Amino acid sequence: MEAAMHALIREAEALCLRTGVTFTPPRRRVLELLAASKIPMKAYDLISQAGADGHPFKPPTVYRALEFLCQLGLVHRIEQDATFVACCHSGHTQPVALFVCNSCLKVTEVAYPNVAKVLENAAQAQGFQVESIVVEGRGQCAPCAQAA
Ligand SMILES: [Zn+2]
Ligand SMILES: [Zn+2]
Repeated sequence: MEAAMHALIREAEALCLRTGVTFTPPRRRVLELLAASKIPMKAYDLISQAGADGHPFKPPTVYRALEFLCQLGLVHRIEQDATFVACCHSGHTQPVALFVCNSCLKVTEVAYPNVAKVLENAAQAQGFQVESIVVEGRGQCAPCAQAA
């Protein structure tokens, strides 16, 4: 296991301990798979790979694990193509914008609290009650842009 993956698993263990929830084997397995993957994964791929060692996980188990990990901020869901990616730094719950590279599919996270606030205020000015805001982008990451 890579150091980054170790750190993410340790963070998940600490978060679960703090909030009094159990870091169940499916939750751990899904997080390990996502942390090992360099690119976002579809739930379908996680379901097939999670059971690759002979202990199959039922699809609802994997979906629930993903929901749990997303709530903790350890995993992010990319809405535009319904994929999941392990958080690239400490788990967090503040909004992040996810930029997906069209060439290598790597995800760059950008914190954007001010943008979220601006959008929320604009929507509320129209009387809209905001429940969630998603900011996603596509393009070229720094190494790919340089190679082009
Ligand atoms: Zn993150
Ligand atoms: Zn790239």
